[in-house]
Amino acid sequence: MIYITSMDESYESLLHKAYEQVTEPTEETSRWTYPEPRVTIEGKTTILDNFTDIVSAFRRDPDHLMKYILGELGTAGKLDGNRAIFNGKFEESLINAIITSYVSDYITCSECGKPDTHLVKEGRVQILMCDACGSHRPVRKRKARSEPVGANLEVGAIIEVTIENLSRRGDGVAKIGKNIVYVSKSKPGQTLKVKIVRISGSIIFTERP
Ligand SMILES: [Zn+2]
Repeated sequence: MIYITSMDESYESLLHKAYEQVTEPTEETSRWTYPEPRVTIEGKTTILDNFTDIVSAFRRDPDHLMKYILGELGTAGKLDGNRAIFNGKFEESLINAIITSYVSDYITCSECGKPDTHLVKEGRVQILMCDACGSHRPVRKRKARSEPVGANLEVGAIIEVTIENLSRRGDGVAKIGKNIVYVSKSKPGQTLKVKIVRISGSIIFTERP
């Protein structure tokens, strides 16, 4: 495994803390988790209070996660101690969804679902290597931001989605373009028709019709 040495010590304790913080009952107790993002609004900025805890649990470069979140939010921001500060007001659910999306793109193995992975560069392509099962895949190419929400994506519309993974709250997560779709009571691999009940930025909340 490749670790950043300075994070090595704190990783174990952070992971331990992360497990302690899990209060929701989960069927698979071994499911990897990370600290729940704590998001507050201060004036015209949005604060992610425990950015450092989260990125330590991820064992990834803080700048990498920060750039990813800023890119998804389409805003500027800075790191301040343990906190990340984003210009503008963003809903907690949006920050949560972006972090969930980062995890599925850059951390969890798509074969075995474990987070014991590291990134390597092969030419211009980033590869996610799994230390647990040995499989590897190219990191998903992100589509450019500012792709408008399609005309058919509006409240009340019925859309068909395929669940890719689960959010840390246990909701199914699907993607349409750059949009993240939440579907409760669903499982990865399922394809189902859902009704859009709310749209918040690139996050789409749905219910089963
Ligand atoms: Zn694996």
